[in-house]
Amino acid sequence: MATDKRIKRLIVANWKMNPSSKIDAMKMFGEARKAGARATRVQTVVCAPFPFLSAMALEITGHRTALGAQDCFYERSGAYTGEVSPSQLSSLGVRFVILGHSERREMGESNELVSRKVAAALKEGLIVILCVGERARDDEGNYFSLVKQQLEECLRDIPRRYFLNLCVAYEPIWAISTHASGVESPEDMLQMGIFIRKTLGAICGKDLAVKVPILYGGSVDEKSIAGFIERGGVDGALVGKASLLPETFTQIIKSANESKID
Ligand code: PEP
Repeated sequence: MATDKRIKRLIVANWKMNPSSKIDAMKMFGEARKAGARATRVQTVVCAPFPFLSAMALEITGHRTALGAQDCFYERSGAYTGEVSPSQLSSLGVRFVILGHSERREMGESNELVSRKVAAALKEGLIVILCVGERARDDEGNYFSLVKQQLEECLRDIPRRYFLNLCVAYEPIWAISTHASGVESPEDMLQMGIFIRKTLGAICGKDLAVKVPILYGGSVDEKSIAGFIERGGVDGALVGKASLLPETFTQIIKSANESKID
């Protein structure tokens, strides 16, 4: 992906298992595309449930709004009931895929499984949004080691050239809207972003690590997005709950578009 940091911010909607009908999905996507088309400095991505992706792909014109999936399997095809492969996604025109989301880890996904999915998706040419983040924050700073371990294990054996199609989303689970027991500050995110980049540097080399977009996710709304970009140093955000509200999501894209980066 390697966004030009001076120009592009990445705003990624994670609709999760919403909405409950195709009609509503198409309406929401229409609003997101309208907002995306007006935001020249934003790459808008909508990660929708699998059943809606083919219909949504037909509506895509231009590059400002792209389609993403919320998971994929690590094989191309075969006897894997219920799974969806990276090549099936890319054949529809899907460009992004979220992998290792905390809600999937909650259902049993290990770093090892995530790493197989990451490798397969990158090999297929998809842009991977790899989610990392701790369940709880501790005063001793152990959550830094956990994030390091997630990055090292999920990116194990990934060829260096693939890092150009990687984004990392830091999503502290305690700050995600469905659990929210606290609020992450842009200042803490800045520190975590530096740590993530340093960890990536040790994995793939500094020259590639500086090109990996780092996103923040966790209760982002139209009021907080600018702070995360301007003071938190992130390249964009992964947005759950607020992406289901077209007016709010439009404001998030607008605010990201207008936020200032040195
Ligand atoms: C998420 O779960 O990816 C997320 C960012 O959710 P929310 O914005 O609702 O906290």
